[in-house]
Amino acid sequence: MTDPDIAAILDEIDSDQSANEDRGKVADYIPELATVNPAHFAMSVVLANGQQFSTGDASLPFSIQSVSKVFTLALALGRLGDRLWDRVGREPSGLAFNSILQLEHEQGIPRNPFVNAGAIVVTDAILAGHAPREMLGELLLFIRTAAGDDAIHINENVARSETETGHRNFALAHFMRAHGNLLNPPELTLGAYFHQCAVEMTTEQLALAGRFLMNAPDMPRLVSRERVRRINALMMTCGHYDGSGDFAFRVGLPGKSGVGGGILVIAPGRASIAVWSPGLNAQGNSKLGTEAVERLARRTGWSVFG
Ligand code: GLN
Repeated sequence: MTDPDIAAILDEIDSDQSANEDRGKVADYIPELATVNPAHFAMSVVLANGQQFSTGDASLPFSIQSVSKVFTLALALGRLGDRLWDRVGREPSGLAFNSILQLEHEQGIPRNPFVNAGAIVVTDAILAGHAPREMLGELLLFIRTAAGDDAIHINENVARSETETGHRNFALAHFMRAHGNLLNPPELTLGAYFHQCAVEMTTEQLALAGRFLMNAPDMPRLVSRERVRRINALMMTCGHYDGSGDFAFRVGLPGKSGVGGGILVIAPGRASIAVWSPGLNAQGNSKLGTEAVERLARRTGWSVFG
């Protein structure tokens, strides 16, 4: 296949998606996120040779929310190695990101590191007695190093807004604490978790930050090759919650979504892709973002399935 003309494909996707009126619904359970204009659309691609392409509002920061779970997972695996899997599973949940249903049946061990309960355990594991400020400093350092951009920061208003309204996450955390699967006080772990979710990035920055997951020779190597494969496997099977099967079917690439409307998608060995459109589908994943990467994957032929 000759090299696809990424710039032309992105322009085409942007003009269609900007005019699309069926944009999904912006998350409003975190009040600060409800203020975001659903008309935004942005997409950025970084290729294995370092070339960068962007379209739309690619220099406007958005709340990465659950996309942050990829970075904390990388940190936790670096810190604990396979011991992390004593506290969190590796199976898709088939349930909503904030569901509490499985936790009772499965004795407080969350299904995977990308549902909220699992991500809270991961954050608890890297917190391990440190002050949240220290852990968040380490996380920001990781993300800034991955992106090569020191300007990436946490939006305190978003963190505060979720702290005031995050009752489901408090329920999950207390339930896991009751099962002995949360080592720090729930307020402490959740304080760190809400702040990690409140990291803001542009699609340009997020696509750059995703380079370490490409397993390409000239890209930053922040975790081992084997670990990158495993993170990608989890993104493919669990990265979109109960929409993960559909995302794999439609896009064929590992991806991690967030309720801010962002998605990080990896074409192993080829590209790191970030897309942002704030309106969500019924599973809480960006509606137009999913459609956009589906189209990019089809036009480029990128797929892990051959
Ligand atoms: N901070 C959000 C929450 O815990 C993250 C969820 C998401 O992005 N899917 O509810």
